[in-house]
Amino acid sequence: MFASLPDKPDHDALEQEVLALWEREATFARLREQNAGGPRFSFVDGPVTANRMVLGVHTAWGRTLKDVFQRYKALRGYHQRYQNGFDCQGLWIEVGVERQLGLNSKREIEEYGLAEFARRCRDVVVQSSQALTEGSIRLGQWMDWGRDYFTFSDTNIEYIWRFLKLVHERGWLYLGHRSTEWCPRCGTSLSQHELTQAGVYQERSDPSLYVRFPLLERPGESLVVWTTTPWTLPANVAAAVKPDAEYGRRENGEWVAVARYPEESLTSVLLGSELVGLRYRGPFDDLGPGSEVDHRVIPWDEVSLEEGTGIVHIAPGAGQEDFELGRIHELPVLSPVDEAGRFYDEYGWLHGLPTSEAADQIVGQLAEKGILVEAGAYLHRYPHCWRCDTPLIWRVTDDWLIAVDELRQQLLDANATVEWTPAYMGKRMDDWLRNMGDWNISRRRYYGLPLPFYPCACGHLNVVGSRAELEERALGGLEQLEELRRPWVDAVPIRCAECGERVERIAEVGDVWLDAGIVPFSTLGWQSPEYEAEGYATGAAKGLTRADLPDHEYWETWFPADWVSEMREQIRLWFYSQLFMSVVLAGRSPFRKVLGYEKMLDENGREMHSSWGNTIDAPDAFARMGADVMRWQFCSQPPDRNLLFGFGPAHEIQRRLLTLWNSATFLVQYANVEGFTPRYGDLERGPGGELKPLDTWLVERTRALVREATAGYERWLTVDVIKAFEAFVDDVSNWYIRRSRRRFWDGDETALRVLWHSLVQALRAIAPVMPFLAEHLWQVLVRQPCGDAPSSVHLAGWPEEREPDDALLAEIDDVRRVVGLGHQARQAAGCKVQQPLRTLVVEGAALAARHADEIRDELRVKDVRFDAVDAELVVKPNLPVLGPRLGAELGDVRAALRAGEFEDLGGGRFRVATHELGPDEVLVERAAKDGWAVAAEDGVTVALDTHVDDELDRERRVYELIRRVNQLRKESGLALSDRIALTIPARDADLLEHADWIKAETLAVSVETDGGDAPAIVRT
Ligand SMILES: [Zn+2]
Ligand SMILES: [Zn+2]
Repeated sequence: MFASLPDKPDHDALEQEVLALWEREATFARLREQNAGGPRFSFVDGPVTANRMVLGVHTAWGRTLKDVFQRYKALRGYHQRYQNGFDCQGLWIEVGVERQLGLNSKREIEEYGLAEFARRCRDVVVQSSQALTEGSIRLGQWMDWGRDYFTFSDTNIEYIWRFLKLVHERGWLYLGHRSTEWCPRCGTSLSQHELTQAGVYQERSDPSLYVRFPLLERPGESLVVWTTTPWTLPANVAAAVKPDAEYGRRENGEWVAVARYPEESLTSVLLGSELVGLRYRGPFDDLGPGSEVDHRVIPWDEVSLEEGTGIVHIAPGAGQEDFELGRIHELPVLSPVDEAGRFYDEYGWLHGLPTSEAADQIVGQLAEKGILVEAGAYLHRYPHCWRCDTPLIWRVTDDWLIAVDELRQQLLDANATVEWTPAYMGKRMDDWLRNMGDWNISRRRYYGLPLPFYPCACGHLNVVGSRAELEERALGGLEQLEELRRPWVDAVPIRCAECGERVERIAEVGDVWLDAGIVPFSTLGWQSPEYEAEGYATGAAKGLTRADLPDHEYWETWFPADWVSEMREQIRLWFYSQLFMSVVLAGRSPFRKVLGYEKMLDENGREMHSSWGNTIDAPDAFARMGADVMRWQFCSQPPDRNLLFGFGPAHEIQRRLLTLWNSATFLVQYANVEGFTPRYGDLERGPGGELKPLDTWLVERTRALVREATAGYERWLTVDVIKAFEAFVDDVSNWYIRRSRRRFWDGDETALRVLWHSLVQALRAIAPVMPFLAEHLWQVLVRQPCGDAPSSVHLAGWPEEREPDDALLAEIDDVRRVVGLGHQARQAAGCKVQQPLRTLVVEGAALAARHADEIRDELRVKDVRFDAVDAELVVKPNLPVLGPRLGAELGDVRAALRAGEFEDLGGGRFRVATHELGPDEVLVERAAKDGWAVAAEDGVTVALDTHVDDELDRERRVYELIRRVNQLRKESGLALSDRIALTIPARDADLLEHADWIKAETLAVSVETDGGDAPAIVRT
């Protein structure tokens, strides 16, 4: 006996039960034990930032994919590491703590105290990592929880120090003086890859100013420039023109590019090169720094003639390209604002003003000076800080960089060894590697990797490579060194290796992507002399994890990862940083295969924003849809398209999953009536007994499912697994069960055995995607009735793959297609399924001919003929395609098609008038003759005779009677096997000629007419 199943699953409740079962029976530990000697599958987890107090559905997506493939590999016997990771440093964490504490600037953080600030940051990581772990467990993710790696561990930091020391030894580390994107709120520069993160470029309205620069040598004449960043004007030192473009003078003496103002009459046209060298009065020469500058016109090939005036204002202290141009032309660099984006004191009336608030005053001043030509607003996409949303500015600063040119080719070569899914993401990585600039690794912040750089006045740069080295060279401060972190590490000066003087660490911390990029080394024990149990739990990670620090041999065993998976955004972030660090340290890629995926949006295709109220937290989704349904939603998504996630799609998935559920409850009901007991061995052997053709088909169909699911998983495409599974469940429910109802009713044991075998094999194939429902049904259908079955579907291994009989499958495919078309034709003719019909003609599905009986039965027709369908070909123009191609000639072609004047060239091609039209340029239909309904698809056409005579009408009434009677049986609570006596109204007396048929279908022992209005039944 099977335990009975409710009408539909309560996903949340069922999942909680399964979680308790796994916990009680230590299922995951047993799986790991079972696979301990197996082949290895190496997966390295990209760390999730531990700053949120609840698992987000975005994170749940990636975690689901990681879990699905680890579960699949585990079913195939692979030994795995299952180490989860948390990212613990950087702006994400800091900004959260600043908000918590109400701190608004770096000065306030320093006043608060860096030690306490660091402890608060750690608290966030501790709490968040617990919350994320809970959420992930609820999601069904099997990881070695409790042995997670935390990137703020001293061990992780030391590994990065070692990397940086090596980079320095190879001569790639330098202090760059350059213009970079800068967040005035966070007070730090950002690197190129941080600007590629989602949400950085946002639409924004800025002032659009046209400003006159009066020419010194040409009184009464001036250059007109255009800018959208007024705050940069006080830093102006030059104006750039395109040397080979023409410039002309307006009547009022203003010079602009001719190409920008084709409507205007401009005189004295000159080439840009002829303007070069002219000197002008700067817009803010009255403010200290500007007064000493010799403003002049310089040439620049990149000046755009697409916008502005064709003359560009150049401020090397406030723009990247400007800075580079400044180098070439040896221009002075005016840096107008400090770290917080406020004007320095020497800028007079501007001093202390933030760039964002200076615009109005600057515009007012320009107007007062009479050099403002025009002021308006300009809508454009502008970069914002990825963490705090503040519009970025450009500042010239000193940043630590790693030169990439010498490594570029090696990085490209390493990437060429990687198999990317989808393939275009690998190309994106290539593009990035080809075009990226040097890696800016320093941030002027607090809670991050302390860069181990100790520059000395003697000119020597000391780079410390380990804690041991720091201790050895320290001149004090070791007693207070809690962690390798600010402020403690700052209080440990060392001796310069070159001159012996005391030197201090620079204040900067490192880019967080160093933290995550080192993971394939720091967590796998690269160059670690011995295996240290729980040895990774150092510094801030102490007491938080029991992660080991393995030895080098372990690293050799598990590196590189066979597979990693993250969102596309990570191409320039984590995928990049670990590729970079790995090429430096090991000369090769740290991963062999990558699965990337696109973005998650809400179900209406909008970005999810907490301020828009359309974000979904995972706990809410667990309660309202269940983890399996969430996982299904994630897995049915092709990775090359954005996922539209929400409760609407979840509802639809719940509905579709009912087909599987109903098939299982159907099996349970009939098996229990019959006292059927499954045999576990059937799963490998196949169901024994006298198989009918339909049984054989389902066995082969099940093999095909296993083959398709295997192929899907092996290609890292869960969407293929889901498609295969859904098609299979439809075949089981809408073909096998429907076609076999009578046998189940009769308690046919073979049918029960075949259905059980197929459903259970399907559960095994889908278990990685939907671990809870598969486990629940495994318990009911397999474990409880079969004493010798594994206690969990996840311990049962992968179903053995056998080649299915493809010819047979193709045959039934054809049958199902004919039946589908038959129903379509009926629907088009408004002819109900209950109504028996005379004839169906089938053209083009030759394989289905052997199954004419089944088709007759399914479509309720008396006769099925395999023959040419007599229907007129109607060809219509596909206007959206054909219109643009034919232009004015379209009319002739339409007229000819309407008149039926065309020649069928085969292969979907037609000659019409003088044109040959391809398959995509026409819409082909088959028009039915009177009294017939036609439907066609994929080369198969069916025609249905829709004429209903008296006899057919009577049969319809018999069907309706049978349906009514069986409904009555149900309403009276009769058991499936109870017999009845049936009486029908006198007006239905003509139906008695079908009495035997009626008796057989209703389990009636007698059928009689009486005086009543409606059929009535009595149990006998
Ligand atoms: Zn910021
Ligand atoms: Zn020195």
